[in-house]
Amino acid sequence: MDTVSQQSNNVEIDEDRQQKAREYARKRRRLSYIDMGIAAVGIIFVFLSGLDIALRNWLHPLAWQPVAGWYPWQVLVYFLVLMLGYQVITSPLAYYGGFVLPHRYGLSTMTLRSWLIDLFKGLILGLVLEALVIELIYLLLAVQPQMWWLWVAIILLLFTVVMANLAPVLILPLFYKFTPLPEGELTRRLLALAERSHARVRGVFTMHLSSKTTAANAALMGLGNTRRIVLGDTMLDRYTPDEIEVVLAHELGHHVHHDIWKLIISQSVLTLGSLYLLNLALHWAVETQHYYLSLSDVATMPYIFLLTAVFGLIVLPISNGLSRVIESQADEYALQATKMVGAFKSAMIRLANQNLSDIEPSRLIEFLFHDHPPVGKRLKHADEFAERYAFNASISAESLPPTSSTEPPGIESSGSSTPEAAH
Ligand SMILES: [Zn+2]
Repeated sequence: MDTVSQQSNNVEIDEDRQQKAREYARKRRRLSYIDMGIAAVGIIFVFLSGLDIALRNWLHPLAWQPVAGWYPWQVLVYFLVLMLGYQVITSPLAYYGGFVLPHRYGLSTMTLRSWLIDLFKGLILGLVLEALVIELIYLLLAVQPQMWWLWVAIILLLFTVVMANLAPVLILPLFYKFTPLPEGELTRRLLALAERSHARVRGVFTMHLSSKTTAANAALMGLGNTRRIVLGDTMLDRYTPDEIEVVLAHELGHHVHHDIWKLIISQSVLTLGSLYLLNLALHWAVETQHYYLSLSDVATMPYIFLLTAVFGLIVLPISNGLSRVIESQADEYALQATKMVGAFKSAMIRLANQNLSDIEPSRLIEFLFHDHPPVGKRLKHADEFAERYAFNASISAESLPPTSSTEPPGIESSGSSTPEAAH
């Protein structure tokens, strides 16, 4: 006799928390609409007032020109004025959305001080990396006005690969503490799981999420020599070993399916398309409208930002859709590798309760904003797997023995901003 393990530890969707989850998601969406509105009004104001041209004229004295048409100081100062202006104007929103709201919903464990420190670290890191990319774009606009978009796409692809490799060792430790998962039951189980699927795992790490959030998460991170599975400490103490094993199996699924590469490549294709359209729009503005002096005129920056933001909005549902497919495949992998349908379902339910994620968002909201299938669909997927598996088992005698849990059900949750177990 062969069956899948349906034991579910009696974990149920918490209706009060679902109510809160819907409310929280609604408030967060409203905030991002306001944020977008401010950015749109700001950029339109810059165009109508002629501030884009005025700022370039004002920066005229910064005339150092190492390559014909490329003014690195003008580009840098122009960029900083735009970005810092935007950050200052939207800082009340950042404070409300990043600090007040998560505290009100019991998702954040950060003090104002540590939140501000993270905010500044993130801001500086972002400004440095973005400034490098912007300088590169303007350099290529000056020297390769026809093919700059292709060069930028290629360099961005290389840059993304390098960042994906360095993130777990260089970037994320700036914000979180990582420690190797202690030797023991879980490590043993994971290694057995990895061995069964012939996957080489370089390491499993605990990420100390609890210093910032009450939410749980797990992820596959890194590329090449830095590839690792990361498990939030907010999961370790509240989930049964079976549930954690299923979550780890999901992450292992990402590894086996080469999902980080799939995401990098698909993102690069979308970026290439956006850059090509941006190229057409820039040539039109310069050559037909004569609004700017040349392609590499720094005054094009607000125009480039506006178009990039519009393309980003168009591309978002596409990349979210791809991500949902990849996530669903990782779920399928986790179910096949462990056969623990019950533990899968209870882990999903615990995550939804703990992280305040809406298990059944509207179709439109899912299509636009969700990079994981909603928990409701993931539960349904598990049920379908159980049916499929029972059917297959009835026609084939051979199969893996089910594992089962001896752990008592975990403690009821608190919550967060990130949905489900992630990449
Ligand atoms: Zn995932």
